Amino acid sequence: MINRIRDSIRRIDFGRLPREYREVLPKDINFTNINREKIFAVMIIVVNLPLVFVDYFNWEKAYWSSMPGYRYLCYLHLIAIAAMLLFLLAIRFNKIDSPDDISPHHRALSAGLVLFLLVWSSAVSIADQFIHKDITAFIVGMFAVAGAYLMSARLALAVFVVPSAVLLYALDYLQTDPHRLKGYCINIAAVAAIAWGLSRIFYMQYIRDFINRKIIDSQKDILARQSKEDFLTGLFNRRYLELLLSQEFARARRYNLKLSVAMADIDHFKIINDTFSHQIGDEVLRVIAQLFRQSIRSFDIIARYGGEEFVLILPETDIDEAVMVCERIRKTIEGHDWAAVARGLSVTISFGITDDMSRENYEKLLSLADVRLYEAKNGGRNQVRF
Ligand code: GH3
Ligand code: MG
Ligand code: MG
Repeated sequence: MINRIRDSIRRIDFGRLPREYREVLPKDINFTNINREKIFAVMIIVVNLPLVFVDYFNWEKAYWSSMPGYRYLCYLHLIAIAAMLLFLLAIRFNKIDSPDDISPHHRALSAGLVLFLLVWSSAVSIADQFIHKDITAFIVGMFAVAGAYLMSARLALAVFVVPSAVLLYALDYLQTDPHRLKGYCINIAAVAAIAWGLSRIFYMQYIRDFINRKIIDSQKDILARQSKEDFLTGLFNRRYLELLLSQEFARARRYNLKLSVAMADIDHFKIINDTFSHQIGDEVLRVIAQLFRQSIRSFDIIARYGGEEFVLILPETDIDEAVMVCERIRKTIEGHDWAAVARGLSVTISFGITDDMSRENYEKLLSLADVRLYEAKNGGRNQVRF
């Protein structure tokens, strides 16, 4: 699994996405993009609000009529604030808490914001042509999009090249000074190229980070499973059994419920190992685990307690019912077709059961089941004692 993921990372270096992430990754990217855009929207409002006051003073000084660029800028500042408020409002009504919440609606909103940013910063640069003749707003807009918005190489190409071309076309129309126009051309081309490169770097970094997160998640799952599972039989292990038993014991105590605990031990397992082999012994353990699983209710708990010992927790079950369950399992194991595992093999199991809730703790309850098991062994094995 880990090696496969490592291979995938290598493939990504060549611009390809591992197949298993093709569905999850875009949602993850959209989720991150929207969260970043929310921050950006707030920042744009914060930057534009004081500018409206600047616009107001420009209006008082009658710059609006003598220099129309100031009027255009004022409109653009107001448009930006209104658009960002709308964006934040739309996101608020389509709340997203995880990548799974992403809908086409969100994708449209997110792409819309980027489109707006590029068009808007181009428009500011055009309005600036009527005042101080520079393209700083466009450059800032390009780098902001490159830094904040994750996108694939092809999309990035369109996002950075198309607005640059459109802006250059508009500037060519407005700017009469050929030296200045040449400067614009060089600056815009350089900015588009660098913005595209930065966007690639951030995107690759994000994908690596995404894959590392996935590796950590899958390792976390494996560790969580290993910490409660017995690897040979797939049943709960002793550590997890003790946790579950302590919880069941406490619950039965608090609500005055019935609770039965059975301890089971395979008869003469050492002889099985010695006569057949350890591998056959292991197979016997796996088959018995399977027979246990098939014979219990969904809320019963079965665990491998030790080598060939099992513990069965039967919540809300009194001793009579527990004896019935264990007898049934005992007979199932005795009657199983063991010849299919090894010729001449036969397997039996002994049970000790208790439902004595007057015991002071779950350990004492378990040790009472063990005492009963000992009695079953002394009484001739292949039996249930309570
Ligand atoms: P009794 O009927 O009194 O329970 O006799 P027994 O032979 O079953 O009991 P004993 O405790 O003497 O032997 C248990 C054996 O189980 C010894 C050990 O080698 C074997 N065992 C423990 N864990 C495993 C395992 O994971 N795989 C295999 N194949 N054998 C195991
Ligand atoms: Mg034993
Ligand atoms: Mg045994």
